[in-house]
Amino acid sequence: MNTPVYLDNAASTPVDPAVAALMQRLLQSPEGTANPSAGHAAGRAAAAVIEQARREVAALIHADPGEIVFTSGATESDNLAIIGAARFRRRFGRHLVTSAIEHPAVLESCRALEAEGFQVSYVAPDDRGRVAAADIAAALRPDTILVSLLHAHNEIGVVQDIAAVGALCRRHGALFHVDAAQSAGRLPLDVRAQCIDLLSLSAHKLHGPKGIGALFLDRERCRRVTPLLHGGGQERGLRPGTLPTHQVAGMGRAFALAAQRLNEDPPRIAGLRDRLWRRLATIPGILLNGPEQGRVCHILNVSIPGVDGESLRLALRELAVAGGSACTAETGEPSPVLRRLGRSEPLALASLRFSIGRQNTEQEIDFAAECVHAAVERLRALAPAEA
Ligand SMILES: *Cc1c(COP(=O)(O)O)cnc(C)c1O
Repeated sequence: MNTPVYLDNAASTPVDPAVAALMQRLLQSPEGTANPSAGHAAGRAAAAVIEQARREVAALIHADPGEIVFTSGATESDNLAIIGAARFRRRFGRHLVTSAIEHPAVLESCRALEAEGFQVSYVAPDDRGRVAAADIAAALRPDTILVSLLHAHNEIGVVQDIAAVGALCRRHGALFHVDAAQSAGRLPLDVRAQCIDLLSLSAHKLHGPKGIGALFLDRERCRRVTPLLHGGGQERGLRPGTLPTHQVAGMGRAFALAAQRLNEDPPRIAGLRDRLWRRLATIPGILLNGPEQGRVCHILNVSIPGVDGESLRLALRELAVAGGSACTAETGEPSPVLRRLGRSEPLALASLRFSIGRQNTEQEIDFAAECVHAAVERLRALAPAEA
């Protein structure tokens, strides 16, 4: 077993060897060299590689390939979906609905729209992070043009009832955007059955490369949005710029692999997550962040009373895990999401987010649990902090 044990797969996953091999081959091939927009044979071969990837990405979410636009990642997809759709539909209304615990890519896109004169309602979750469809319904107004909701939460793993929210958006006539960066390949996604009009995807959360993602736009309900970038006509003009053939192909292969393994990986990963929680649950006072039931397979977030968060993470040098908040790691601020769920500042700081990938083993899970037990015992013996 190699240390540090990597248990930060919600932040990024290792690239699958088959994906890396494909990308490597493409980088050094004529079709990897050619501009996919070029009319010569190598350019056409590059375009064919991209269309293959488009089919593979579309298949995982039961969309048509023509409904997929490649972007640089889920951050860009969230921005394009929310800002692009709001600007495109502003004559129909200036109001959006989202939740108070969205990913920063969604929240900051909403803030940017507020500066343009849009209004946004931020629906509060319950103390486990669940956003009630009824609360979304209550926030809808005649001028609501878009609702945006995370499918599986990147910090606490809570899974929202997107099909229910999708159905009510459809009845209301508002567009529905879902950030599926954490749920794709881990939970079933069907854009038609779940009434999703826009869906954000990222390759590097699913054993693909960083720097590539996709946005699904429903052919009938949301064919166009106002682009954020201006340039050549690539991706139907919605996202101009030369497509990175090897990146796109890597995403396609990663999504095809995930589709093949959809019945195999999520249950195995959920088993590892439950094994880890069983072993950690014997730490006196430990708290699960998020609901007991209804979490995505790979995320386990806990708070440990009686220890200082910073000391805890320093003591866990043999583990690559996120703490406090992955996104505010630089600032040292407690996770706003955990604070929203009612955790005190010390408990929000003394949190650990374990996230499991396809590559992790039972042995690694058991080692991680032992490390946490040892660290907590040592820290509590040193300085019995009040929680
Ligand atoms: C990681 C993540 C993003 C950002 O994706 P990038 O591809 O890194 O831009 C957006 N939303 C969620 C839920 C994520 O977990």
